[in-house]
Amino acid sequence: MLDKRQFYIGGEWVNPAKANDFAVINPATEEAVATISLGDQADTDAAVAAARKAFGTWQHSTKVERIALLKSIQSEYAKHEEDVAQATTMEMGAPISLSRTQQVGCGTGHIQKFIDTLEKFEFEEELDGFPTEKILKEPIGVAGLITPWNWPMNQIFLKVIPAIAAGSTCVLKPSEMSPLSAYVFAEIMHDAGVPAGVFNLINGDGIGVGSQMSGHKDIDMISFTGSTRAGALINKAASDTVKRVVLELGGKGANIVFADADEKAVKRGTMHVFNNSGQSCNAPTRMLVERSYYDEAVEIAAAAADAHTVGDPSVEGSHMGAMASEAHYNKVQDMIAEGIKEGARLVAGGLGRPEGLNKGYFVRPTVFADVTNDMTVGRDEIFGPVLVMMPFDGEEHAYELANDTDYGLTDYVQTQDMDKAKRASRAMRAGMIRINGDGGAGPSPFGGYKQSGNGREGGKWGIEDFCEIKHITGWKS
Ligand code: NAD
Repeated sequence: MLDKRQFYIGGEWVNPAKANDFAVINPATEEAVATISLGDQADTDAAVAAARKAFGTWQHSTKVERIALLKSIQSEYAKHEEDVAQATTMEMGAPISLSRTQQVGCGTGHIQKFIDTLEKFEFEEELDGFPTEKILKEPIGVAGLITPWNWPMNQIFLKVIPAIAAGSTCVLKPSEMSPLSAYVFAEIMHDAGVPAGVFNLINGDGIGVGSQMSGHKDIDMISFTGSTRAGALINKAASDTVKRVVLELGGKGANIVFADADEKAVKRGTMHVFNNSGQSCNAPTRMLVERSYYDEAVEIAAAAADAHTVGDPSVEGSHMGAMASEAHYNKVQDMIAEGIKEGARLVAGGLGRPEGLNKGYFVRPTVFADVTNDMTVGRDEIFGPVLVMMPFDGEEHAYELANDTDYGLTDYVQTQDMDKAKRASRAMRAGMIRINGDGGAGPSPFGGYKQSGNGREGGKWGIEDFCEIKHITGWKS
């Protein structure tokens, strides 16, 4: 059993103010693998004070110094990729091959993109056409970063790296379900020579450390990724201190498949839902199919689900792993039961564990056809390997169905008619649109419309989130 009770505050590992043990469970074995501490107010205060002290110096660091530090983090991360992969698989059940490639790879990709972006980023500019007026982008101060368990490194890199790049300092609270990869990350930060207090790590749950951070008078901004439920609570807790709150929340992505879609589109969209066991906010979980192609598409999706295997995440391969926790497994089971009760047509998967698995939080790859937007499984985020399908008649109907949701994170369109793809991209109310399976490669903004959130992580937008804007007049040379 790993002992990970300490926090990383002010450049050193420190004991929690009070004992408050919490077991980290491996969701594939249902066994406890590590003990962490859930912090309390004294721990939160200590981490915030360390970040505040470090901000005094770090805010004045130059772009060259920040780039050098990011490159040092990058090279330490490269040395510890296997440690990060193993920790991720152990804490949240992603298959080890996926952890080594996609989970670890998110960090590798993001840090390179932030280095490239920072090199070009202008912290001082002339107000367009007014030479005596200056715009400065200054670091916001102490940032509180609260992350979920589904893509642990992805969210940590999307918050910690731009915070530091902007000249802010930070306190990270990873999900209490997935603290082990964050521990490795803190060791990487230490070995990379991050100045004391610029990065701090504290464990805790949402009600405790999460709420304390949201309401903390010495935290200038909260950047949060997680459920819409927690995002709304954070906004409320943060309101008395009028801090900036940047939210990346849930999704129920529409994937519009026109009858002229390429032949791989349905299978590609189905497998995308099952990636990371369906625990991705940007998954294309609602497949809307043009009626003339609908029956065939349902057959293709069901066959893809039936053929997809589920198994031990510690074994290499392209199979699906476990749900991250017992509570989440139960939530996904409840949603599948609800779909059956509401009369959606179950064409693959269903309730219970996959055959041959009697232990571990494993879910069957599941497809529901004939879902409508008034069913719970059509509206609510399931966050598991469950695809819902529905037919549409004509473009306007497709856009109406796609937009009839509280969310607006990532929508998808499949057609070989580029004019139609462009019309669909403009019509869908979401922060990201993916045409024909192109995931993009650039330093792009990640974030959503409506209840999917309000910020944009990644690229220059990600750094700007951690900056204040200052306007100066009378600036003469
Ligand atoms: P969660 O909201 O329960 O927890 C996320 C984090 O918030 C954890 O660190 C948790 O301790 C903390 N937290 C919980 N309640 C809090 C509160 N009241 N105050 C402060 N902090 C609190 O979500 P989860 O179950 O860990 O993650 C799954 C959800 O996150 C899904 O709904 C998913 O769609 C969403 N998500 C969104 C994105 C995105 O970028 N939009 C990315 C990943 C996950």
